[in-house]
Amino acid sequence: MATNITWHPGLTHDERSKFRGQGGLTIWLTGLSASGKSTIATALEQHLLHNGLAAYRLDGDNIRFGLNKDLGFSEKDRNENIRRIAEVSKLFADSTTVSITSFISPYRSDRDQARALHDQDNIPFIEVYVDVPVEVAEQRDPKGLYKKARAGLIPEFTGISAPYEEPLKPEIHLRSDKVSVEEAVQIIVDYLVEKGHIKAL
Ligand code: ADP
Repeated sequence: MATNITWHPGLTHDERSKFRGQGGLTIWLTGLSASGKSTIATALEQHLLHNGLAAYRLDGDNIRFGLNKDLGFSEKDRNENIRRIAEVSKLFADSTTVSITSFISPYRSDRDQARALHDQDNIPFIEVYVDVPVEVAEQRDPKGLYKKARAGLIPEFTGISAPYEEPLKPEIHLRSDKVSVEEAVQIIVDYLVEKGHIKAL
């Protein structure tokens, strides 16, 4: 039996980071439907993984159909949706993974709460505003959702019949109609390196 094992009563985030050689943080993408959150999140996740970092993306596919399948789209349910995502993302970040969330998260107060939750435990929270004029998002409409919303088939659709409150002081502001997906990934990575959250890739 190995004798070189030292048991700790509980590991701190700093100890975990040292063992893993990587810090953890949450990159919180917010913006209209079709602004490019999922596309940028996927490209960023792949880029970080290729470079040997632990990264994981939380999005509608793995959250709305599982953890949050009991929630709808009323304001109350949207609040709870974001609250749970923030808690889960914080856990991933605490485990020293780069956690990337890609949700519209239209309400400022929800995003501020997500940030406060991370601040409490000194876990970095990087808000990234994926900004695009609603006309451009509507033209892209990769899932045909704007078309349905205009036809009145989706009630409370952000940007059409429900509000989107843009971030006032996001750490990063991307105009996805002006920068490419690759450029957006590079801007985020440069920011992370500059702030010392990750080593230069
Ligand atoms: P969201 O997750 O915000 O709903 P998606 O990433 O699913 O948005 O869809 C965005 C659409 O816009 C995709 O079809 C994507 O290919 C396209 N797109 C065009 N230019 C960009 C860009 N610079 N950044 C991100 N997406 C872009």
